[in-house]
Amino acid sequence: MPKYFARADSIGDKSVLITGENATHLIHSLRARPGESVIVCDGAGTDYHCRISEISARDGRVVLSILQTAPADTEPETRITLYQALSGKMEIVIQKCVEMGVWEIIPVMTDYTATVWSEGKHRRYEKITEAAAKQSMRGIIPRVAPVLGLQDALADSTRLALALAAYENEKKLDLKTFLRAGKAAVRPKSIGVFVGPEGGFSPREAALLQATDIATVSLGKRILRTETAGLAVLTAIMYEFDELGVDGNG
Ligand code: SAH
Repeated sequence: MPKYFARADSIGDKSVLITGENATHLIHSLRARPGESVIVCDGAGTDYHCRISEISARDGRVVLSILQTAPADTEPETRITLYQALSGKMEIVIQKCVEMGVWEIIPVMTDYTATVWSEGKHRRYEKITEAAAKQSMRGIIPRVAPVLGLQDALADSTRLALALAAYENEKKLDLKTFLRAGKAAVRPKSIGVFVGPEGGFSPREAALLQATDIATVSLGKRILRTETAGLAVLTAIMYEFDELGVDGNG
């Protein structure tokens, strides 16, 4: 069943108006007909199960009548914030982590980041997020924040229940042990995940991380690329918290 994100102001009490790219997709790509079912999500956790009542191909408008409203049931219980060091691989990181259920992505400027931040890139990241959220049937469109310096990102993470930093030089704590002990074991409402850039965290940054109560965690003996590390951590958290099952509990 097709699913679209609609702006709150196009969702009425009984009907939803679809225009623009979504209408073009419904009318021309899917050749939708009145009577067919469509799900509309407000991008804030609510799904509207609808039936097409009117199509105007000339005006690019589709009117849907709302049959049922329900909380989106595809969102994980734990909200994961990915603090991802900015790199040229941002687009793939965003696409994959949105599929995997990330709550928000905060790009971080680090000592070894060679990529420049721009408003244009931010808008592009938001578009990729929306497309990935739609494709993977998410109930929200994850937020992509503007870039933060590492200090500010560390300060930002104090609003979360706990946080970890993937650090390849960590020799004591591995991800599994971390996720099965202390605060993590009781499935916190939120977890922050820090991932370094292609060249890793600088010694200065590693010291900064270690001065906080953010746990530095090893992902094993192999060195993962920056675009692999976040996805690996997210997948492990989802697995550990039973978010990969057929009913969301497996
Ligand atoms: N020191 C490196 C590798 C950086 S890998 C270099 O000089 O090239 C990029 C990022 O992925 C790291 O900063 C870290 O956050 C994460 N990462 C990769 N492999 C890891 C591992 N085995 N354990 C923990 N984190 C890892």
